[in-house]
Amino acid sequence: MQGNEEFFTRKREELGVELNEVQKKAVLHTEGALLLLASPGSGKTTTLIMRIGYLVEEKGVRPERIKAVTFSRASARDMKERFDRFFPKHSGERVAFSTIHSLAFEMMRDSLRKQRIDYRIIEGDAAELEEDVDFAGERPPLHKKLILRELYRRIVGDHMTDDQMDELTTYISFVKNKLLPQEEWGAVKCEVADAERLLAEYERFKREGADKRLIDYDDMLVLANEALDADRELLRKYQRRYDYVMTDESQDTSLVQHAIVEKLVQGHGNLCVVADDDQSIYAWRAAEPQYLLDFKKAYPRARLLKMEQNYRSSRNIVQVANRFIKRNKNRYDKNMFTDNPEAEPIVVHRLSDYQLQAKFVAERVAEEDNLREIAVLYRNNSSSIALLNAFDRAGILFYMKDGDNRFFSHWVVEDVLNFMRMTFTDRRPDILEKIHSKMNGYITKQQMAALKAVPQPDSVFDNLMNYVSLRDYQFKLLQECKETFERMKGMAPRDAIQTIRYDLGYEKAIDKMCERLGFRKEYLIGILNTLEDIAEGLETMEAFAHRLKYLEQVMKTARRRRSDNAVTFSTLHSAKGLEFERVLIVDLVDGILPSNDDIKKHEEEDAADMEEAVRLFYVGMTRAKRRLELCAYDRRDGTKTKVSRFVNAVRRIQDPEAFQAAPGKRPAEANGESAGRAHEAFAGGERAMGGQAPGRGRAAASAAASTRRPPGKATVVRIDNPRAKATAARNPNAVREAALLAVGSAVEHRSFGRGRIERLRGDHAVVRFEAGQKTLSVSACLEMGLLELKG
Ligand code: ATP
Ligand code: MG
Repeated sequence: MQGNEEFFTRKREELGVELNEVQKKAVLHTEGALLLLASPGSGKTTTLIMRIGYLVEEKGVRPERIKAVTFSRASARDMKERFDRFFPKHSGERVAFSTIHSLAFEMMRDSLRKQRIDYRIIEGDAAELEEDVDFAGERPPLHKKLILRELYRRIVGDHMTDDQMDELTTYISFVKNKLLPQEEWGAVKCEVADAERLLAEYERFKREGADKRLIDYDDMLVLANEALDADRELLRKYQRRYDYVMTDESQDTSLVQHAIVEKLVQGHGNLCVVADDDQSIYAWRAAEPQYLLDFKKAYPRARLLKMEQNYRSSRNIVQVANRFIKRNKNRYDKNMFTDNPEAEPIVVHRLSDYQLQAKFVAERVAEEDNLREIAVLYRNNSSSIALLNAFDRAGILFYMKDGDNRFFSHWVVEDVLNFMRMTFTDRRPDILEKIHSKMNGYITKQQMAALKAVPQPDSVFDNLMNYVSLRDYQFKLLQECKETFERMKGMAPRDAIQTIRYDLGYEKAIDKMCERLGFRKEYLIGILNTLEDIAEGLETMEAFAHRLKYLEQVMKTARRRRSDNAVTFSTLHSAKGLEFERVLIVDLVDGILPSNDDIKKHEEEDAADMEEAVRLFYVGMTRAKRRLELCAYDRRDGTKTKVSRFVNAVRRIQDPEAFQAAPGKRPAEANGESAGRAHEAFAGGERAMGGQAPGRGRAAASAAASTRRPPGKATVVRIDNPRAKATAARNPNAVREAALLAVGSAVEHRSFGRGRIERLRGDHAVVRFEAGQKTLSVSACLEMGLLELKG
């Protein structure tokens, strides 16, 4: 024990981190199985890292004999970085930090090699590169999605949408990760027609359809697991390789993954599993948190430790989050507490319209210097584009951990550009062909073919009317289309998009397609709105097309900016395990978080999905160390939206009196829930805490305190015009008037440093900085106080 204390003292002196008693126990419990079930920010990952260091420094274990399994490649990297910081002496050494997939891949590769089976991976980077290649009718490239698409076409006889693809691949992962036999595939729900048959055919194709065995990511897990069962030699090889195995974020480990780990440690049983069931957010991909609750079945002599003290977040955040998670009934009861001081209350920003949000968020963070301590989190990747546009305009650096990859190549974006191309010339049937069925006049395929056969290179509309057989009603509509395109010549792109949507009938066409093909209308309309945002302030359609290309590039660059001083954009899912001084969560409206599906199932008394949404929001909240800001709005795309019930729950927890007293509204009404249920969820939380037996230590005491005293006052800001709002923490030397800026002026920008203005046009200033040229939005720079004049 003496030596142990020395280790802990040394680490305290070197790192300033003093482990608590439970953490120390977990570090010292190296032999046998250990389940560490703990709250967010309680030091689970920290403890794992200390444990590895302890094994290496104190017990003389060779680093390569330790395997640390993480949830994602990003978390493997983060964990390795933390280890290198904590144990710089051992940083070059080879502790095996990796995902379970990379371990399974090795096992599978060994096994297939032994059986002399050639294989090919059809998912991930390498396979995706191939997806970009145009195969011009040749054999399709062997990529998971392309294979599924082709099978869908053959079996269902239709084109599969991206949403259907997501649904189908989720179904496949679910079935595989749950190790379900084929007889049970039909029992798993999937919205895609013939999903079960598609999966059966997909499996067959992977085995027989190519000269090599085709393997996707889920197969790696299944095959590795099978190989460990079937091949004793292989099993021994891997069992002998590692003496200590640990898994972080194990609440999101699936059954097949647990099975692999179980076999791996069978000999020595030295397994440390770290988890928080309240942060389980991958049930839809077959995460198996129940396994943890049954841990002793697999490891009868396992030790169980709980950690509830949060070291990450301010007292207000911890208390509110702790009470919020008690909405869920299906969980291990825990009481997260902290000794950290109070900081600022959680702030709710309620904007009048969605369109104000991205710019508002940019303004909120514009005053900060330490951008790497800020994160903007969202439920769906589609939220990223508006943020990308607004942050780029404001010149605030960001790192895009997750973004909407589909946006720039989406067919809606292509359509809009093609409509715009028609305003330059209406003599090209090839352009019309791409949009002919998506505008007023509804030109049929046959009419299109006839048009292409017309030799005269005149206006396509004239040619249609003069040479192609049309229905009577089409003449008027096509004449109108022709005139509208003429009117659009030279139009500002934002107006042009509106003309396309409403005058040329594009939005109506989208409506119809959604009905007919099952596309998600919200997403498609969202794209159009985002395009309008991007077009704002631009003068020409060429400039708009350039800006799209430019933003696509910005997105690529922003993905590589991980270690820069930049704001992090991430989905809530990928923010797991991370922490930031300041966190802003956006798009917090009912229908997004929780989603419409979650709400619908909840109303049908199926609470599982709603509970997962609650956990996801909880993961988001608990990323923040000191400042947490929740953004919601009352309208989007002309439709009323409801502030997320989770946001209202936070308000109610934080400041019950103010919430009750909201004029003219009963709380349940404001919450968008039925009065009974809203009250029940809240009171349930109170009861759970009030029911704590006294003397259960600090956790209970702290929780009880929080029922008596609301943790700080809620600040509910209602902002209709963010321009009027950005007054706080402004730079007194910043330029406030556009008239002060001139070509040639020397300026200093908050993020880019010194530069000289090369061009001024409309709202745009082209500035040459040391790092290169940048186009800035003058209004954004003035509003946010980003520019100073120099000399
Ligand atoms: P999550 O559930 O979000 O993954 P976690 O339980 O893994 O969280 P860590 O990321 O390990 O938590 O730790 C959260 C923060 O608390 C880190 O900044 C870490 O340095 C700090 N921390 C952990 N343990 C201690 C301690 N004993 N004393 C002081 N700070 C600590
Ligand atoms: Mg962690």
